[in-house]
Amino acid sequence: MARRTRTDVDEQRDQIIEELGGEDAETTAEREAILGELEEPKRCECGCGTVVGKRSRFAVGHDMKLKARLLTRYDEGDAEAGAELIRRGWRTEADLTARSANGTATEEQKRERQRARVQAKLDRAREQVTALDQQLAALA
Ligand SMILES: [Zn+2]
Repeated sequence: MARRTRTDVDEQRDQIIEELGGEDAETTAEREAILGELEEPKRCECGCGTVVGKRSRFAVGHDMKLKARLLTRYDEGDAEAGAELIRRGWRTEADLTARSANGTATEEQKRERQRARVQAKLDRAREQVTALDQQLAALA
């Protein structure tokens, strides 16, 4: 497939302008519609509007920007952002489920988890104390 260069577009534009020559409003509108179709540039998929090369989907670094933005939106409860992350292959359904489990924890849930961790530590410490007491008793 021959890649259409800027020069080709310029030539086509000149040709169209010549063919449609004339300055009445109707012709100008027609000309602009045709030119608009002719050189519709490929733009960065992040939505920033930057024109990118025919083989690129994003301007440099903008895939990361979009990913971060989608994750933030997902964390805020936007299901469509989650669907887009999966569609683009950036996250799996399982990734997002795990993320939700952590990310949307309320302060109360976080405290509850921390209490459980500290309690488990305390239980282990008590078991050790009991074991040491038994050792000491055995030596008496
Ligand atoms: Zn962009």
